[in-house]
Amino acid sequence: MTRLIFLGAPGAGKGTQATVLATTKSIPHISTGDILRAAVGNKTELGLKAQAYMDRGDLVPDQLVIDLIRERLSQPDAAVGWILDGFPRTVAQATFLDDLLSEINQVYDHAVNFEVPDEVLVQRLLGRGRKDDTEEVIRRRLQVYRDQTAPLIDFYKERQRLVAIDGDRTQPDVAADLEKLL
Ligand code: AMP
Repeated sequence: MTRLIFLGAPGAGKGTQATVLATTKSIPHISTGDILRAAVGNKTELGLKAQAYMDRGDLVPDQLVIDLIRERLSQPDAAVGWILDGFPRTVAQATFLDDLLSEINQVYDHAVNFEVPDEVLVQRLLGRGRKDDTEEVIRRRLQVYRDQTAPLIDFYKERQRLVAIDGDRTQPDVAADLEKLL
């Protein structure tokens, strides 16, 4: 059983690595960003609520993603393991996740932190060409990461669940490292 939380700044490679590892392990890759983008595309109630925050590079309100994750982790496919990519992103979300998991008798193995220098992140994000990847929004997203998400590194360190990976390498190198660590 594999249950992992992928941490790291936008552009750190979490999504790419999560896609590969989830396929190898046959477990769901749960990306709150992907779920929210689909909701925006489908103009659902969730999407309409989330869109303005996402366009600015801000986090959507905790309650929206908390409800989404509670629902997603209750799906049958999530009973065999999962990789959470982009959740939690605030201490409130991380605390919620701990409570939810103890409620449903699950534990995560590790929080994996993908470490990548800021200038590399900016270059990668600029090259990605997603709608929320304009330079101004990128700067905002990195600031939001530092202010609201980076504190989770200590959160998981204190729980002795943190594993760090050097994400400033090629995708296969990072993937190989990840396999070794797990
Ligand atoms: P991502 O694809 O993970 O970079 O997420 C894209 C955008 O979705 C973020 O910039 C946020 O606006 C929103 N988002 C994704 N996950 C979360 C989360 N856990 N908490 C709040 N907002 C989120």
